[in-house]
Amino acid sequence: EKFKEGLTKTRDSFATKVNDLVARYRKVDEDFFEELEEILISADVGVTTVMDLIDELKTEVKRRNIQDTEEVRAVISEKLVEIYEGEEGQKSELNIEDGRLNIILFVGVNGVGKTTTIGKLAHMLKSEGKSVLLAAGDTFRAGAIDQLEVWGERVGVDVIKQSEGSDPAAVMFDAVQAAKARKVDVLLCDTAGRLQNKVNLMKELEKVKRVIEREVPDAPHEVLLVLDATTGQNAMSQAKQFSEATNVSGIVLTKLDGTAKGGIVLAIRSELDIPVKFVGLGEKMDDLQQFNAEQYVYGLFA
Ligand code: GDP
Repeated sequence: EKFKEGLTKTRDSFATKVNDLVARYRKVDEDFFEELEEILISADVGVTTVMDLIDELKTEVKRRNIQDTEEVRAVISEKLVEIYEGEEGQKSELNIEDGRLNIILFVGVNGVGKTTTIGKLAHMLKSEGKSVLLAAGDTFRAGAIDQLEVWGERVGVDVIKQSEGSDPAAVMFDAVQAAKARKVDVLLCDTAGRLQNKVNLMKELEKVKRVIEREVPDAPHEVLLVLDATTGQNAMSQAKQFSEATNVSGIVLTKLDGTAKGGIVLAIRSELDIPVKFVGLGEKMDDLQQFNAEQYVYGLFA
């Protein structure tokens, strides 16, 4: 239900266009595919992904000898799920294990919804019975620490912080010590997202990661890149930059509720091969959903 609600904009635009297309064309022909291609590209699915999808659709239509456009619609959903799930299947589960300190590092540029996502995930984990601690690693952006604290209070979890401008690696060190001492299940770490100086930002992330690695073997257990779905191809290029600089294990795609171009989920999966683990579907505490390709695709057409 949440998925369906959050995808209203994309569904209204994308599914309406597909339905209209299916209604206008009785028979599957070259023009039909061309129009379908345009619809998919306008939904930010990404050119490469669209080309692959159209090719596969054509093959499938031929193989099954499909004449009717209505039947093609079902094949489109099937193929979208297949593209998303890839060969090894979907891995949206977090790498969290009982009996150890799990550390999740959040990266991404300012304004994408990093702090909000940390708050929402803290709430989700807490409601699963896990103890959670937050690390205010964005010491650069004015107000970032306060904002994280507001979320901490709202959700009922503590925040480890230092003053604005302090060394994020030192904050991380403190946070890991505190998490160990309190035997916390999950430590969620915020980081700075300024992109004005990319080299410095990536260096800072490396340093933060090194501190975590030194203190806890195998950590960080997840590096989640937060991307704003409403920024379309810009989000794709951020994904490329961050994944080149650090080992991104999963993506959180926020503000899916605010865009009609929800196809970006598929573009990320097929062009970068990084699983989307969560999607943000609003500004409230409960508006975070673990990503599920089937629910997503069927949510688009339902
Ligand atoms: P940060 O700079 O990356 O930490 O970004 P914030 O967490 O401060 O979020 C920036 C803005 O986006 C805030 O106004 C949030 O309420 C809003 N936001 C975050 N996630 C979502 C979402 O999934 N949907 C919507 N509609 N807004 C969101």
